[in-house]
Amino acid sequence: MKKFDPATAIGSLKQFGEFGGVNPSITDSSTFTFLGAGKMLDTFHGKTDGCFLYSRHWNPTNKYLADALAAMEGSESAWVTASGMGAITSAILQLCNTGDHIVSSITTYGGTYAFLKFWLSKFKIDVTFVTPTNLDEIKNAIQTNTKIIYTETISNPLLQISNIPEMSKIAKKAGAKLMVDNTFSPMIISPIKLGADIVIYSMTKFINGKNDCVAGAICADNDYINSLIDLNSGTAMLLGPVLDPMRSSSILKNLHTLHIRMKQHSKNAMFLAQKFEKDNVKIIYPGLPSHKGYKLMKEMMNKEFGYGGMITIDLKTSERAIIFMEKMQSKGIGYLAVSLGYFKTLFSNSGNSTSSEIPEEVQKEMGISPGLVRFSVGLDNDIERTYKIINSVL
Ligand SMILES: *Cc1c(COP(=O)(O)O)cnc(C)c1O
Repeated sequence: MKKFDPATAIGSLKQFGEFGGVNPSITDSSTFTFLGAGKMLDTFHGKTDGCFLYSRHWNPTNKYLADALAAMEGSESAWVTASGMGAITSAILQLCNTGDHIVSSITTYGGTYAFLKFWLSKFKIDVTFVTPTNLDEIKNAIQTNTKIIYTETISNPLLQISNIPEMSKIAKKAGAKLMVDNTFSPMIISPIKLGADIVIYSMTKFINGKNDCVAGAICADNDYINSLIDLNSGTAMLLGPVLDPMRSSSILKNLHTLHIRMKQHSKNAMFLAQKFEKDNVKIIYPGLPSHKGYKLMKEMMNKEFGYGGMITIDLKTSERAIIFMEKMQSKGIGYLAVSLGYFKTLFSNSGNSTSSEIPEEVQKEMGISPGLVRFSVGLDNDIERTYKIINSVL
């Protein structure tokens, strides 16, 4: 496969501010003037290029960020949203009508699972949940009315790896779209390049990397993005989960350091994973040859960015997990908090936090043990020191 370099793709963009500023200007306006009334009507009908109408539809600052995300993904286009859930729900609703069907990985983000399982049933949209690593199960779940195959590249908290090229084949054959949440692995994996139709991000996590806001993105081809923001039928246009341009501007600046951060997150996570494995701690990390998805990940990834910043260990009981996390926090390892992709290490007990929307029996079925502790490994400069401290409280 030809090498794809998402970081160089972003770095090669020429985006300038109004007065030659090295950062693009912030367009702090909800509405835009037209020199002629005719031009306004044409813009309403989508007949003008480069004209802005209203910021729920497009804002120039959001466009800069969307263009940078499209460059990173190798997609024709992108649109930015006020949260990851805003991206996921708009992207799904754009493709499904009452009576349609979705095949989804069972190990998705808790909010996504709740939306698919409980919310969509209000509109009689059926969802069949499958194990993302079982391609036969996915094939067998397809129905004539299946519109979407939905998965996460690296699942939470078990870090299972989805086979994007094979899922893409199944989707194409079924006339469905493959939608991939790539929040855990920006730059590391480029789903569009591997055959996905739509890529979703919670930019709240690695992409922004500062935990100062929630935001999301949808990357796809021009037709789909235009359909999302169609004035009369676009889900994103009509539900309105648009990102504020002030925030877009700050996320764009953070996006330019994403490649450096991903490499450091990956390097630190790999260090800890290898140490834990040697210590016989039950560890899940896709960069370890003992991980079931290791070979697949190796085939799909853009290698220079590593295997990502997420590791999960199993302490069997939630009591042990809680004591361990409290000790780590008091020793300054990081914070007991949900979310991920921050410069400091964050850790949480999955069953009692990010997967708590998922009923206990289902958690068991998915393989989520009550003692799982998920780490989003930070950018620590001295990870050996960090390891020693963690080891002393383990
Ligand atoms: C956090 C997260 C979401 C939801 O994003 P928000 O920005 O919190 O709305 C969706 N998918 C994954 C994988 C996430 O980690």
